[in-house]
Amino acid sequence: MSGARRERLNDDQRLIVSTIEGLASKFGESYWHRLDKEGNYPDEFVAEMGRLGMAALPIPKEYGGAGYGLREASLVLEEINAAGGNAQPFHGQYYLSFMVARFASESWKERYLPGLASGKLRLQTFALTEPEAGSESTKIKTSAVKKNGKYLIRGHKIFISRLEHTDLAVLAARTTPLKDAARKTEGISLFLVEVKASKGLDIRKIETMFNSQTYEVFIDGLEVPEENLIGEEGQGFRYILGVLNPERILLASECIGDARWFIQKSVAYANTRVVFDRKIGSNQGVQFPIADTYAKMIAAEKVRWSAAEMYDDGAEDKSVGELANISKYLASECSWQAANVAMDVYGGSGLATANHIERKFREARLYRVAPVPQNLVLAYIAQSVLGLPRSY
Ligand SMILES: Cc1cc2nc3c(=O)[nH]c(=O)nc-3n(C[C@H](O)[C@H](O)[C@H](O)COP(=O)(O)OP(=O)(O)OC[C@H]3O[C@@H](n4cnc5c(N)ncnc54)[C@H](O)[C@@H]3O)c2cc1C
Repeated sequence: MSGARRERLNDDQRLIVSTIEGLASKFGESYWHRLDKEGNYPDEFVAEMGRLGMAALPIPKEYGGAGYGLREASLVLEEINAAGGNAQPFHGQYYLSFMVARFASESWKERYLPGLASGKLRLQTFALTEPEAGSESTKIKTSAVKKNGKYLIRGHKIFISRLEHTDLAVLAARTTPLKDAARKTEGISLFLVEVKASKGLDIRKIETMFNSQTYEVFIDGLEVPEENLIGEEGQGFRYILGVLNPERILLASECIGDARWFIQKSVAYANTRVVFDRKIGSNQGVQFPIADTYAKMIAAEKVRWSAAEMYDDGAEDKSVGELANISKYLASECSWQAANVAMDVYGGSGLATANHIERKFREARLYRVAPVPQNLVLAYIAQSVLGLPRSY
């Protein structure tokens, strides 16, 4: 992080940044490169983050957490990616922690939050997407039927991240079928699933273009106790909307971290690689794309920070939503541009796995699609902010 940006942070925030920077010596680019080759989950990194108190960061103090807000959480994710790593496990852990701290019942929080804060329990998975529903999440068909103090859940989910590496998952299911619901946004409920102790989950890995631990899940005979319902039955979509803003802002932070990493790599390479007897970075055809990406990264970073500040200050969801969506849009466009610029600057060397560019390039592509495609972010800005007619 540049000196000027660091100066704007308070002492706690600077400590968080330097703690994550300190991890880079142990979990540097070669660590992430090895995981990528083996297709493994960053177990050691996640455990170390737990030991350093980073799992506790967004959890309220009364449940053993550190009680920090979205600004601090977003700095953590940004710094992990800016060091060449991948913050995805903590992306899941943080926004789901914000969700349950805001919407779950008191007894639920007392039962699970201390374990999440200490790093003993991982809550890193949200199971929403289904093959036939896609972006239209109100169309999910997975059903939950209440019987004898339990919900019996049956259905099919796809692209569910980290399910084999989490203790707890939040699962979305319909307690009222779409055809019987008063509105399409009603009748969805959220359940906390204790993954390792549960029967009825048939989990199959989906191979993707980067190291993602993503799964297809066939659910049949999964039983969840009534007390693991999050909030009120049928109101799950409201809770999902309530956590979209933090999720967008956290995602933007990972993209800003990626963009910083690509820019720093591009500058270093352009300053050393000599062709036609001069450094390639002295050619404007090489300089300008790097400078252009840097300017966009700074703009995205400012919007992300304002959005996080508004959320932490308790602004209403709709006002935060405008900046949260814009920050996700700008930051993921910027990190993808930065990835392509780095590929160009490195020439053939960008494709050599030892230089890490191609790994981060593959990772950066995801954020234009998931957790929400750019088109749907633009649709939100067009329709909910600018008042244009709805397309869906
Ligand atoms: C690696 C990975 C990890 C994931 N992890 C999770 C997870 O942990 N949990 C989970 O629940 N989901 C997860 N997902 C799913 C992800 O959230 C979805 O892929 C994403 O929401 C898009 O849905 P879809 O792929 O079905 O695309 P679709 O909804 O089929 O859309 C396809 C394309 O059509 C466009 N489109 C659709 N409708 C419109 C419209 N009205 N206007 C304009 N354009 C439109 C979209 O922009 C998109 O480009 C993951 C996906 C991946 C790839």
